[in-house]
Amino acid sequence: MDKPQNHEAAYRALRGLEALRWIPLGGYPGADNPWLLKCQLCDWTGPRYWSHLRGRKGAPPTPYRHPGCTGRKAV
Ligand SMILES: [Zn+2]
Repeated sequence: MDKPQNHEAAYRALRGLEALRWIPLGGYPGADNPWLLKCQLCDWTGPRYWSHLRGRKGAPPTPYRHPGCTGRKAV
């Protein structure tokens, strides 16, 4: 359960989230499990999959963040 490679993956995911402007609301569940996150751009909160957010096979992350994201903070 608590293997070193899991720590490594969690650390990479957390650093990635920060770069993509997400705030994790729970511990890293694995790339293919729902992760409760808060969008820094609009304060939306909900489950996202890290495997989707990080981009596939070296592709850049999708600009699509979640349903209804304005891409910027409402004022
Ligand atoms: Zn958003």
